[in-house]
Amino acid sequence: LKVNKKGNESSRNAAALIAKALEKIKDIISENETMLGDLDAVAGDGDHGAGMTRGSKAAAEAANWLVKEGAGAQTTLAGAGARWSENAGGASGALWGAALIAAGNALGDDKDLDLKSYSHAINSFVKSVQQLGGANVGDKTMIDAQVPFAEVFESSVSQGLGFVDAWNRAAISSTSAAKATSSLTPKMGRARVLSEKSIGHQDPGATSFSLIVSTISS
Ligand code: ADP
Ligand code: MG
Repeated sequence: LKVNKKGNESSRNAAALIAKALEKIKDIISENETMLGDLDAVAGDGDHGAGMTRGSKAAAEAANWLVKEGAGAQTTLAGAGARWSENAGGASGALWGAALIAAGNALGDDKDLDLKSYSHAINSFVKSVQQLGGANVGDKTMIDAQVPFAEVFESSVSQGLGFVDAWNRAAISSTSAAKATSSLTPKMGRARVLSEKSIGHQDPGATSFSLIVSTISS
């Protein structure tokens, strides 16, 4: 990883917050590693907890180092995303890696960031998962927890809420959406094959996403 050009002040401040958020993500995922693996074992291969743990740990390390080197938000998220997908493996690792990079591209390294920039970055994150993975809402994937998160964040911002309140509302909505995946049948990924078994259990990727956004606002 390399920092070719330092970020401007606004972008470096955002990068520092992103590194802190990735530390929190690493902690909440490792606390829930077994639960996420068990959920994935219901109809998948049981590696979701382990993959997310490896990915988030590598991403947090990369982000901390890049922030110390003066990286802006884009460079920080690009490094974190690359390390996440390299270390996590699996479908979710590739999707998380690409999504972090896409969010970074939206933020840039020398923009003056405001609430709209963050809303745009969250939308870019979700769009990249949709484009790469091809899942729609209702297919029982992480997308089911991500789309309501992005929508509620954007609408809360346009109603005049600040970052923390908008994020909290979005996280609450993402958590209910992840719960609601229990009743669905998987249409994408490995779980598609044993889809009947998955009914009555939450989707692992939607569950980890909702845990992540909830811990960031806590
Ligand atoms: P793998 O399926 O390769 O073992 P993981 O177990 O880490 O990867 O992640 C499984 C999760 O990835 C699923 O619960 C689902 O949320 C998500 N997922 C799988 N395929 C897709 C896809 N095409 N689009 C969006 N999310 C997906
Ligand atoms: Mg798996």
